[in-house]
Amino acid sequence: MRVVLLGPPGAGKGTQATGIEEKYNIVHISTGDIFRKNVKEGTPLGKQAQAYMDKGELVPDELVIALVQDRLKQDDCKNGYLLDGFPRTVFQAEAMEKLGIDVDKVVDIQVGRDTLIKRATGRRVCKKCGETYHISFRPTKVEGVCDKCGGEVAHRADDQEATVARRIDVYLTETAPLVDYYEKKGKIVHVDGEQEASTVQEKIFAALGD
Ligand code: ADP
Ligand code: AMP
Repeated sequence: MRVVLLGPPGAGKGTQATGIEEKYNIVHISTGDIFRKNVKEGTPLGKQAQAYMDKGELVPDELVIALVQDRLKQDDCKNGYLLDGFPRTVFQAEAMEKLGIDVDKVVDIQVGRDTLIKRATGRRVCKKCGETYHISFRPTKVEGVCDKCGGEVAHRADDQEATVARRIDVYLTETAPLVDYYEKKGKIVHVDGEQEASTVQEKIFAALGD
């Protein structure tokens, strides 16, 4: 199964990805996570991407496409993949098709602007294992400490309110046209992402089939 998770920043893509990857035994590929890892390690790719990420802008298509193409060649993608944060422009989606990278289903997680701002600004992420928390909706047991691995839980640099607002605007202009794009291909399913995470998960499973 090859799935794309579509939705604005803070919609819950990463949160939902964990259960989907387990249930369908497919690998979760988040382009945002890959970029953040490269930024942390100071690689040439990370250095190129950082300025865009800090401003809440998209990294140029060419860089992202090359990265995804490379990642999907790895053996763990043979059973399928769950793309989170890619494609983010119609250009990226078309490039994927030209490269023979197929998609079976696109899950569009729908969440309104006010909720997105609350979720993204309150998001905290473990620096060590990447587990995601929320100061109100999913707090750690001990403040600042990851429940899973004991690592330090931090606020993402691009989760400040002004940057989140910019990222939502970028989503609406650059990424939202993909909804129509995949609608025309008959591949999209829409899920109300404003509900409890467990309810959203059930709806996604029902849409993808058991
Ligand atoms: P995305 O990957 O789409 O940017 P995340 O999965 O990281 O979004 O979720 C953003 C924030 O909102 C996180 O702090 C997460 O814990 C929280 N969150 C995700 N889904 C829900 C939900 N259904 N209800 C409440 N909070 C949620
Ligand atoms: P995310 O973790 O998905 O919210 O992504 C964080 C940031 O990484 C985005 O704001 C972009 O700057 C960059 N990014 C991630 N995926 C893509 C993509 N497919 N195209 C362009 N930029 C991306």
